[in-house]
Amino acid sequence: MRMNVQPIPSASDRINEIRALTARIVNKEILPHENELWSWRNEGNFAESSRQKARELRKGITEKVKQAGLWAPHLPEEYGGAGLSFLEHAYMNEVLAYAVGAASLFGVVAPNSGNQKILVKYGTEEQKRKWLIPTIEDGMESGFSMTEPDQPGSDPRSLRTTARRDGDDWVINGRKWFTSNGKRADFFIVMCRTADEGGEVDRNSKMTQIIVPSDTPGVDIARSVPVWGRDGHHCEIFYDDVRVPVENQLGRTGSGHQAAQDRLGAGRVYHCMNSVGQMWRAFDLMVERAMSREVHGGLLETKQFIQGFIAESYIDIQAARLMTIHCAEKMENEIDARTDISAIKIFVPEAYHRVVDRAIQVWGGAGVSGDLPLADMYQGARTLRLADGPDEVHKILIAKNVLKHYRTGESWDFGN
Ligand SMILES: Cc1cc2nc3c(=O)[nH]c(=O)nc-3n(C[C@H](O)[C@H](O)[C@H](O)COP(=O)(O)OP(=O)(O)OC[C@H]3O[C@@H](n4cnc5c(N)ncnc54)[C@H](O)[C@@H]3O)c2cc1C
Repeated sequence: MRMNVQPIPSASDRINEIRALTARIVNKEILPHENELWSWRNEGNFAESSRQKARELRKGITEKVKQAGLWAPHLPEEYGGAGLSFLEHAYMNEVLAYAVGAASLFGVVAPNSGNQKILVKYGTEEQKRKWLIPTIEDGMESGFSMTEPDQPGSDPRSLRTTARRDGDDWVINGRKWFTSNGKRADFFIVMCRTADEGGEVDRNSKMTQIIVPSDTPGVDIARSVPVWGRDGHHCEIFYDDVRVPVENQLGRTGSGHQAAQDRLGAGRVYHCMNSVGQMWRAFDLMVERAMSREVHGGLLETKQFIQGFIAESYIDIQAARLMTIHCAEKMENEIDARTDISAIKIFVPEAYHRVVDRAIQVWGGAGVSGDLPLADMYQGARTLRLADGPDEVHKILIAKNVLKHYRTGESWDFGN
């Protein structure tokens, strides 16, 4: 089924143009070839001929994406990106995410995309030349190494990996895990403690992000931690007396926490718009099946249980989408959106989880098979509820912001 993308009357001409161009590529170039593009991934079919065919298809599609001016929507034009505004990029995501896995065909691949954004904002000209441009132009790969097995990732200020100054070098010691893309990465951006836990500086100024080439002596990629039973290159890494020059430090000493917040804040809105696009796909698949599968003497669409699934999913998608767009509009207009970001970070993955769950139920056994994208979506939705800040942490943040506001003597203005 094609994604039905019509102009949005309240959106700008440019946003409607971007959505239409993206939908054309998704509908014409990606959806008809989904099985050839990704089948070897799902079926364990690693025949070289299948891989070769997938490579050729991907090359053809990325050429079309570039011709349409949609390549790397997260990057400014001066670095070869599409130079989209925040809102334009958010609206583009709901369309491209309809085709599961398509983001890579548009030049947005995590964790490279997040690292690229950090390098654009915090990198020196030399760092950009050495680490940013090659990830955009020459296929250099990267990882983001923050979470540790022995400390809670949901409280990044507690991290223990240290970087100690020794002359013109930083010397890094610590253990990380879930460093995605760890096996392929040419360098890691490593979150390090550069001030003592009980030291003078404030709680947010004790971390610094440092670029570490993966072939530096002392970097030991010990294993890939399987996720949902699969090897996804989320690696456990030991940093043992790893020595890099101080020029590899990103931003000023102590800016690591802020840089991580910058990375995650905008990223959460983009992830939520991706989730909306994937819910949209799950919904189309669910309705399509309900209208064609006959069970117990009637089409599924005639059963009220199934009608309930359709109605509840419609409500979930509308609510998730409108909340996310509202939050993106605030960010575009530089209005404080911290409470809204936490709200969508909780609501959207939960809604996504519910919608995919119902779609799987309607499809029966096929729903959990590799023939459909639903099983991948289901696992992705569940993972989102703990990655980028688990639900509980965001609930605490919402309550804190609301209570702080009421303490000033004002109630909440839901109109803004
Ligand atoms: C597929 C995948 C890819 C990842 N990729 C990366 C990566 O590239 N780089 C990287 O650095 N990390 C990565 N991570 C790690 C991820 O960011 C962390 O798992 C996440 O931040 C949670 O940290 P944690 O696992 O240490 O859980 P913990 O911090 O131990 O939290 C466990 C649970 O405790 C509860 N909790 C936490 N705080 C509170 C509270 N205040 N009140 C009540 N309950 C609370 C929550 O339910 C939470 O889920 C990835 C994880 C996954 C699954």
